[in-house]
Amino acid sequence: RLYNEVIELKGNIRVFCRCRPLNQAEIANGCASVAEFDPTQDNDLQILSSDSSKKHFKFDHVFKPEDGQDTVFAQTKPIVTSVLDGFNVCIFAYGQTGTGKTFTMEGTPENRGVNYRTLEELFRCSESKSHLMKFELSVSMLEVYNEKIRDLLVDNSNQPPKKLEVKQSAEGTQEVPGLVEAQVYNTDGVWDLLKKGYCVRSVGSTAANEQSSRSHCLLRVTVKGENLINGQRTRSHLWLVDLAGSERVGKVEVEGERLKESQFINKSLSALGDVISALASKTSHIPYRNSKLTHMLQNSLGGDCKTLMFVQISPSSADLGETLCSLNFASRVR
Ligand code: ADP
Ligand code: MG
Repeated sequence: RLYNEVIELKGNIRVFCRCRPLNQAEIANGCASVAEFDPTQDNDLQILSSDSSKKHFKFDHVFKPEDGQDTVFAQTKPIVTSVLDGFNVCIFAYGQTGTGKTFTMEGTPENRGVNYRTLEELFRCSESKSHLMKFELSVSMLEVYNEKIRDLLVDNSNQPPKKLEVKQSAEGTQEVPGLVEAQVYNTDGVWDLLKKGYCVRSVGSTAANEQSSRSHCLLRVTVKGENLINGQRTRSHLWLVDLAGSERVGKVEVEGERLKESQFINKSLSALGDVISALASKTSHIPYRNSKLTHMLQNSLGGDCKTLMFVQISPSSADLGETLCSLNFASRVR
């Protein structure tokens, strides 16, 4: 292995918690922060419950509201770059709508997130190793909405979207035939490509958040490597997943189409939780087939694959119930 031997020693499934700052509206409404951080440790979090008892959580890392994108990426970097060693990697952002999943993964033009920083780092690493290894990077972007897969790098505005399915290849791996795989050569092209994909992504509006995304958005980076000394070739995938909001139905009082969306979201998020906790407990049967998401990610979850879950939370007292749900979900998969 060229990089990151330390990861193997630390295990393959990790959970980072990230708490966003209180926003202007919450401050104006007098919401207090329920999250307390231990100043001497970076893996510890306490939540003040309404009965003023404290609930204690431990994760592999806890990011405080003031921790910026660079701090988050510094911890994420060794995991994403292990794709260059031939590992398959999955990174998820999980949490209630409005807690910063998209901020963490996608970021903003001024505060770019894990997705862009990852590609930047992969280019940097592959250049610095170019005397030993030749790498080819390509990017796919897709969305899972109501258990249907849609390619985000295809402009579907003029025709009905092409339906994509998960198929097993002759080698036994799960593939999505027909998915666009755009080769990328440098960071310049990457941001434009990512922006294009983000634009195509479907958004719905709920009472909880106008821009709330009801779909899972997946960025897949395919790395083809060739060892220039022994000729050995590798092909591995890195998945960067911005999951749909985990909030329970009821809070946003949904019905009809929105209710159906919520049921699909609940089903796929619990399927994901079931798969990761089965992997963590080293159970022999892993229920990959219970959702499109886990089925599609089957080759990148388990075995010697690396998995990282960001559990995103709000510090606001108004979100206490959802925050505890997310933290409990994340504790289950750890
Ligand atoms: P989600 O994707 O989980 O629905 P967003 O990423 O859209 O949430 O975040 C909601 C809002 O909060 C956005 O305006 C975002 O810029 C802001 N935000 C989220 N996390 C942070 C953070 N760590 N620091 C500053 N602003 C944040
Ligand atoms: Mg979002």
